[in-house]
Amino acid sequence: MYDYMIKVAINGYGTIGKRVADAVAAQKDMKVIGVSKTRPNMEGFVAQQRGYPLYIADISKKASFEKVGLKVAGSVEDMCQAADVIVDATPGDIGATNKPLYEKLKKKAIWQGGEEHEVAGFSFNSSCNYKDAIGRQFVRVVSCNTTGLCRIINEVDKEFGVTHVHAIMVRRGADPGVIKKGPIDATVLDPVTVPSHHGPDVLTVLPHVSITTMAMIVPTTMMHMHAIQITTKKPVTKEGVIALINRHPRLGLIKKSAGIKSTAEIKEFAMDLGRQRSDLFENCIFEDSIYANKNELCFFQAIHQEADVVVENIDAIRAMTGIEKDGATSVQMTNKALGLVTIQNNH
Ligand code: NAD
Repeated sequence: MYDYMIKVAINGYGTIGKRVADAVAAQKDMKVIGVSKTRPNMEGFVAQQRGYPLYIADISKKASFEKVGLKVAGSVEDMCQAADVIVDATPGDIGATNKPLYEKLKKKAIWQGGEEHEVAGFSFNSSCNYKDAIGRQFVRVVSCNTTGLCRIINEVDKEFGVTHVHAIMVRRGADPGVIKKGPIDATVLDPVTVPSHHGPDVLTVLPHVSITTMAMIVPTTMMHMHAIQITTKKPVTKEGVIALINRHPRLGLIKKSAGIKSTAEIKEFAMDLGRQRSDLFENCIFEDSIYANKNELCFFQAIHQEADVVVENIDAIRAMTGIEKDGATSVQMTNKALGLVTIQNNH
């Protein structure tokens, strides 16, 4: 137990917020002081069962929560006032509207990838720029796709040097619990134009990298799939790439021996391994897809959109509060508390 537990509030207890709350609760140096919701629904009951005090955005709706048996601890402003750090996991573009509140209360806040870089003025990835986040008031954890891209590009760059990255994102249409989004029978170019927003977003973390991205949305909910091609400065080898993946605490390798060739099978594997919510916090890079020839590297990686950013939020909390100055140590602490053993160590 640490002398001081960082008090964390999660504003927006949805897909990302509920996972961040559980990840915070698992750490030895931080605790959940509250989570917030706008409407009473199943997630409110989960928060109550977990013992997280429930706050609401519009306090005039208190009666509608209490009527269904959800105890309300107060308003979102009350919750933020009591926190050291607020993790804003409200839907994209809503988070930015909360900035005046965090400024008024002089609180540290973390936004998610649905917000623009400018909201925080600093975009974060634990492996790439932890040190630059130390002591900051505002940080944005980049999106799931950008997180997955930054992790691997940065490692390849350190080992072989990156001349250019070309990445194609095949994106899930909606999260598994979302019933109002599609497509149900189409491949939607998102956008039709090139580049997609992912390339410029990678530059908010790795400004020196040359990258072009394309993206499309398909009717699946499980994970995103990336097809990545990197030209390197030094000749690249398959063994060298596998070695750097194995060294990294959040790069996973789907070995040939697993016999997996789809996102569905990865999720099934995660479920069978007993992972909470079948979450994959690590990139899932297909060993058999790694093609290395002279200065060209190609591979497929699957990214679990609901999970990879969760661990990054925990490290961002440590960096901003300055409780841990070393990024690698923070990553190790976060992973250990969550029992994360990268997927290649399970087969
Ligand atoms: P979500 O819709 O699942 O959850 C958002 C939650 O915030 C909901 O519970 C909603 O009731 C609540 N909420 C809405 N308005 C609020 C307000 N004013 N005050 C407090 N709570 C409010 O959204 P999500 O998928 O968790 O996304 C959150 C953020 O994370 C977005 O920026 C998104 O782009 C980003 N993100 C999402 C994913 C993903 O795959 N779901 C991946 C990476 C990043």
